Amino acid sequence: MPPERAISCLFVSGENGGETMNVFQPVQATMNGHATASDRVLRPRRLRISPAMRRMVRETTLAPSDFIYPLFVRFGRGDRRPIASMPGQFQLTVDELAREADSILELGIPAVLLFGIPEEKDWCGSDNFSPHGVVPEAIRALKEAAPELIVISDMCFCEYTDHGHCGVINTPTVDGYTAALPEGYLLNDPTLELIGRASVVHAEAGADIIAPSAMLDGMVAATRGALDEADLEHVPILSYAAKYASSFYGPFREAAESPPSFGDRSQYQMDPANRREALKEVALDVAEGADMIMVKPALPYLDVLAAVRKEFNLPTAAYQVSGEYAMLHAAAANGWLDLQKCALESLTSIKRAGADMILTYFAKDAARWLSAGQ
Ligand SMILES: [Zn+2]
Repeated sequence: MPPERAISCLFVSGENGGETMNVFQPVQATMNGHATASDRVLRPRRLRISPAMRRMVRETTLAPSDFIYPLFVRFGRGDRRPIASMPGQFQLTVDELAREADSILELGIPAVLLFGIPEEKDWCGSDNFSPHGVVPEAIRALKEAAPELIVISDMCFCEYTDHGHCGVINTPTVDGYTAALPEGYLLNDPTLELIGRASVVHAEAGADIIAPSAMLDGMVAATRGALDEADLEHVPILSYAAKYASSFYGPFREAAESPPSFGDRSQYQMDPANRREALKEVALDVAEGADMIMVKPALPYLDVLAAVRKEFNLPTAAYQVSGEYAMLHAAAANGWLDLQKCALESLTSIKRAGADMILTYFAKDAARWLSAGQ
């Protein structure tokens, strides 16, 4: 065999007593009569021989400090409502939420992300920019209970509007109505004003990071502009830069009580079929002043996450969404999957694909599993 045809190993079938057998046999190709390194069987399994060896060469490791824990805060007091489609997750009133803060920090989780469920919803989501809205109150309570816990404020309007869309809808009765635009259209620029206003209210309440999530054009610039105008230049922006119109958000709609009353969000969230467009969206948000960027959902979009990580140098988050969480729980409840192993494998995959931070409902469980040494 000529040297250039050398293959380090292959299976050879041969006849032996009438039976076909497989012989694992290195091909003895030579270079000037001497065996070369490439002639030897390559044995990557050597580095998988024991748990200690595998740990030593592991490329990706998870830690509680990788996680951001999303929380749902509802109006009222003394209430802790389980979310049926998300086992182990709750809607918490502000007082209950504040009680959670210490345990989250003790587990080594550095940050939480807040979604609000207001007592009343209206056409423009005014609870979101009221200083006494449910999220501003929650921010104050959390910062008082645990000042070092980073509080990220999800900045959108779908939880606060009576129609469930992420901003102001074009109807003749609302401010900003534009006859030339279709009725039912989400008005981009009037919504940007509200995003800016609410961002200032949340930051003044103590939010450490504002995370605009509506996928509206110009939302990062509007957030940055409003914060700077209010002398809040120190507050960073985590942009939901590539957020897809995903069906994996199903359980979240129950959790946040925010399903759209008509249509869906495909006019502003991204088409799941597009990857190049994600790079365009991220580039725009970076240009507008985003400090950190996010891809959402996570597991079905690992290729997007990897592409974003490669292209941009900003800290990159991925959101393991409610449907990803619910699927694993449902399968585990049926005895079809091992919840702990599959959850940690999913989280590891998300980190391996490039996430610096993972927003996950598994945050507390995963932190416990990790500290117990799996
Ligand atoms: Zn929204």
